[in-house]
Amino acid sequence: MFLRPRTLREAVEALETPGVQILAGGTDFYPALGERSVSTPVLDITAIPELSGISVTTSEIRIAGGTSWSELLAVPLPRCFDALKAAAREVGSVQIQNRGTIAGNLCNASPAADGVPPLLALDAAVELISSAGTRQMPLASFIAGNRKTLRRPNEIVSAIIVPRTIDGPSCFLKLGARRYLVISIAMVAAIIEGDGEGMVSQARVAVGSCSAVARRLPDLERAIVGAPLRQGIGQRVEPHHLDVLAPIDDVRATAAYRLDAARTLVMRALELCVSG
Ligand SMILES: Cc1cc2nc3c(=O)[nH]c(=O)nc-3n(C[C@H](O)[C@H](O)[C@H](O)COP(=O)(O)OP(=O)(O)OC[C@H]3O[C@@H](n4cnc5c(N)ncnc54)[C@H](O)[C@@H]3O)c2cc1C
Repeated sequence: MFLRPRTLREAVEALETPGVQILAGGTDFYPALGERSVSTPVLDITAIPELSGISVTTSEIRIAGGTSWSELLAVPLPRCFDALKAAAREVGSVQIQNRGTIAGNLCNASPAADGVPPLLALDAAVELISSAGTRQMPLASFIAGNRKTLRRPNEIVSAIIVPRTIDGPSCFLKLGARRYLVISIAMVAAIIEGDGEGMVSQARVAVGSCSAVARRLPDLERAIVGAPLRQGIGQRVEPHHLDVLAPIDDVRATAAYRLDAARTLVMRALELCVSG
C-alpha cells in the first residue's frame, strides 16, 4: 500500500494503518532496505504543504517537518544558524540535499547525523503530531540512542522549533576520511554569544559521532562564559570537558583517535566563532 496524502490531517489518519512507515526524501529509507523490497505500507509525506517551509518570528524559528537541506540553505537566517547551514552543505551531495529532509535526518537517529550537533547547539525542540494531538520535546531527549527516538509509531515530526535564545556566530566542522560524500569520524557545532563588552555571555558546543547520541559539552560551555571574546579561546578546552563523550572503535577510526579529533575540532570551532 502506498499512501500520499495532501494534508497533515489525512497523514495523521493514515498513520493509524498498522505497520505503516513514513517516507520523506527516502535517502535513508531506501538504503536501509538493502536488497529487500518494501514490505510495509508506506506513507509518503512529500505532498503536504503544511510540512513545507521555514517561518521566522521574534521568539522562534520553525522548520517544517518536510523541509529539505536545500530549502534550508535558500532561506536567510540569523548567524547562529550558520552551523546548521554548514552541516546542510556537508550532507551527501547536492542531489541528496535536494531530497533529504532535516526531520528525516533526526528520525533516522544515526550517531553520525550531521544535523544533530548544530540543532542541539540551537536548543532545538521537535514537534510531533498524531491523532492524539501535538506534543513537543527537546531534541536532546527525542534521540534516545543509536537509531532510536521517542517518536511513537503514529506520530509525524511536524516541525523542528528553535527558540531565539542565542545570537552569535556559529560554525560546524566535520572530519571524515575524505573531503566529499563522507560519513564523519567526528563533528562539532559551536555558537558563541558576546555580551557587547568583549566577553562571552553564552556558549554552546555539541559533538557528534563520538557517542551513540551527539552530546553538548556543558562543562566546557560553563568554562567559556566570561572569557574574552578573542583568539586563544580554544586553549580553554581541557580534556575533562569531553568526558561526556563515549567514542567507539569502528571501521572509520579508533575511539582514541575520535576523542583526539573531537578535542581539536572543538578548539578550532571556538577560534572560528571568535575570529569574526
Ligand atoms: C549518498 C548518501 C549520502 C549521505 N550523506 C549523509 C551525510 O553526509 N550526512 C548525514 O547526516 N546524512 C547523510 N545521508 C543520509 C540522509 O541523506 C539524511 O539523513 C537525510 O537528511 C534523511 O532525510 P530523508 O528525508 O531522506 O529521510 P527518509 O529516508 O525519508 O526517512 C528517514 C527516516 O526518518 C523517518 N521520517 C522521515 N521524515 C519523518 C517525519 N517528518 N516524521 C517522522 N518520521 C520521519 C522515516 O520513516 C525513516 O525512518 C546520506 C545518504 C545518502 C544516500
